Amino acid sequence: MKQVNEVIKDFNNKYIKQNLLVYEAYKNVANKQIVDATIELFYKDGVLFITAKNNTWGQQIAYYKQKLFNGLKKEIKSIKDIKISVDIMTEEITDPVYRNRCKKCESYIISEADEVCVVCKNIEENQKKLIVNKLLKETPWIGYSDVNDEIKKVISQSEFLREKKFQKERIYDNITMSYWDFIQQKGSVILNSIKAKIEEYVLLSCEIMPEQITDEIIKQNIPAKIFKMYISKEK
Ligand SMILES: [Zn+2]
Repeated sequence: MKQVNEVIKDFNNKYIKQNLLVYEAYKNVANKQIVDATIELFYKDGVLFITAKNNTWGQQIAYYKQKLFNGLKKEIKSIKDIKISVDIMTEEITDPVYRNRCKKCESYIISEADEVCVVCKNIEENQKKLIVNKLLKETPWIGYSDVNDEIKKVISQSEFLREKKFQKERIYDNITMSYWDFIQQKGSVILNSIKAKIEEYVLLSCEIMPEQITDEIIKQNIPAKIFKMYISKEK
């Protein structure tokens, strides 16, 4: 019998080929129960869409999402994200443990303490993240007190601060990486874009408007070595 890899080689359609490879990798990474509970796998543009046979399994898979992703990443380099959905048509409930229903989608949920299921929670979290990210991209200096009431209704102060902290860390990592490129003169470091990142970082940190920013304020908010890069001239 031909090995799967040989069979796949025979396919000319790149798209089908890739989906078969992803399916093979999924079978290797996920345990048998998860594979059995998966009714559809679909891979497109770096995103793996998993359809679980019911909400209970959707939640189980959601718990293992990061683990699955890490395992798949080893074989499927192009993978960027995993999205989990549930086939509502096949939903059935057999286990009396799952008595609570999700307030959003009405599926049964595992934890009695939760009001919404993991799948809905993920969707909600992602939407909140997007809203805060967009807000901070447009107005990095904004503090929670300046956020409008409509947004305050859906995003609490702690959620806002958590996302802002995450955003700051991300920009800071970005600056640090550029710094190493800069001192090693590796590749083409675009100094102006790093400077813009540094300013964005300081606006986020100090909650000041762009016109209030000065070299002195920047100096106080970033390490000296990075400030040296900030004031250096383009090479
Ligand atoms: Zn739900």
